[in-house]
Amino acid sequence: MNQAALSILNTTFGYASFRPPQDAIIDALIDGQDALVIMPTGGGKSLCYQIPAMARPGCGVVISPLIALMQDQVSALEQLGVKAGFLNSTLSAADTQKIEQQLMSGELDLLYIAPERLNQARTINLLHQVPLALFAIDEAHCVSQWGHDFRSDYLQLGLLADQFPDVPRIALTATADSRTQAEIIQRLHLQNAKQFVVGFDRPNIQYRITPKNNPRKQVLAFIRAEHSGDSGIIYCLSRKKTEETAAFLCAEGMTALPYHAGLPAETRAANQRRFLREDNIIMVATVAFGMGIDKPDVRFVAHLDLPKSIEAYYQETGRAGRDGAPATAWMAYGYQDVILLSQMMSQSEGSAEHKHAERQKLDAMLGLCEITSCRRQTLLRYFGEQNHEACGNCDTCINPVATWDGTDAARKALSCVYRSGQRFGVSHLVDILLGKENQKIQQFDHQQLSTFGIGKDLDANQWRSVFRQLVARGYLAVDSTGFGGLRLEESCRDLLKGDERIQLRRDVKDVKTSKSKHSQ
Ligand code: ADP
Ligand code: ZN
Repeated sequence: MNQAALSILNTTFGYASFRPPQDAIIDALIDGQDALVIMPTGGGKSLCYQIPAMARPGCGVVISPLIALMQDQVSALEQLGVKAGFLNSTLSAADTQKIEQQLMSGELDLLYIAPERLNQARTINLLHQVPLALFAIDEAHCVSQWGHDFRSDYLQLGLLADQFPDVPRIALTATADSRTQAEIIQRLHLQNAKQFVVGFDRPNIQYRITPKNNPRKQVLAFIRAEHSGDSGIIYCLSRKKTEETAAFLCAEGMTALPYHAGLPAETRAANQRRFLREDNIIMVATVAFGMGIDKPDVRFVAHLDLPKSIEAYYQETGRAGRDGAPATAWMAYGYQDVILLSQMMSQSEGSAEHKHAERQKLDAMLGLCEITSCRRQTLLRYFGEQNHEACGNCDTCINPVATWDGTDAARKALSCVYRSGQRFGVSHLVDILLGKENQKIQQFDHQQLSTFGIGKDLDANQWRSVFRQLVARGYLAVDSTGFGGLRLEESCRDLLKGDERIQLRRDVKDVKTSKSKHSQ
């Protein structure tokens, strides 16, 4: 190990030792090689470029899309005595000039630059005039057009390889399936980079997914039972819902703050600051909140709506328990989520191919919700880690899911979809199965259908669960253009013909787990 690096770790950052593979990554960069680092959130990516930037002659340039956090990052470094600065659109002309002068006179160890700023010819010219220690491309998955954080400015970063062939480059991300990894390598010209992939497992996080009926009450009960007085993040899909949920929790005596992109910048910054600095704050946020947030003692992350991919779920839940102490990732999920996300996807801009990829990601997320085996195993398998035992620290491990032979129910449900013309949503289909004589049934003459009233052996909740699972397993597709109508998929043929049987999971209430935070 490079001695200068170790001494910077000890004296500047105050840490005793590197977490592997930080040491190997830092060695490679000091040696002048390129690196690609895939490391989960909280793994310790920052030191991997900060330390070699200080150990090598010249300034280290960090490209980050997180403009809102640059000020914080730079202030934190300055407090440690590191000479750092940033260039982005929030700076005044005078401050920009000051930073540029510091760069020219060799005063800076680290310079954070927004990608759109780096792409300006003026910035590139400036960088050509000074010795550079390295380029660090943070949140490198932003270069992927398939990912949820795509930034077109990242596409230009490939030019760094040609323009600065002697400056080592390191790309870092927490999110990369093998396809995104390949895309990062190709677009950023990292074919010769050493690759460091750190395991995705976060053993201290307990994963739980429960059927949604009254999400606010459910999350309140969850917090009261297991996390009262803890810091946590609650994710909601809509801005309105973050505000309503925060108000609801406040009325129940908790300190909850909303966070979404529609709030004034000052409110957002103030709420974020309180969350970072105070204890016991619950942040109720859209996905706008969290990228780059480093709060070690977040004890729970709750989802009141389904994330649109396993990557997003993993990244968001990964903000819990960064200090290594027990934490909970809790989610309430319901059928309505699927319809809503499908609609959003179909209305989004983007090619048919892109929508198809998004749809597949949502399907994988649904699969994770409906599995009857270990959640962690499934999660890690998705990221390419095949060899994990059942974990013992997720809901399905702690309370094994009961299954039932749903063949008969599934056939009734599928034929009900078919007979009613493959265009109605779940509530109407359930009404047909239960034989309800309401206005809509009469309007379409559905009391004449052979499936009318054939499902009285199950109640409405059970039927909704059957439909949800049939969608999650790909037997039924949600019509994404309109109002959540269901149609049959090719794969349901065997089931309908009677050649295939199906086991369904029996929905259980969210049960408090045996491993509470006090017993560990
Ligand atoms: P990431 O960028 O991968 O999400 P960070 O670089 O923000 O992670 O690091 C997460 C936390 O771990 C930070 O609080 C950081 O100070 C701490 N950390 C990183 N490396 C070490 C280390 N070698 N020893 C102790 N703490 C570390
Ligand atoms: Zn498990």
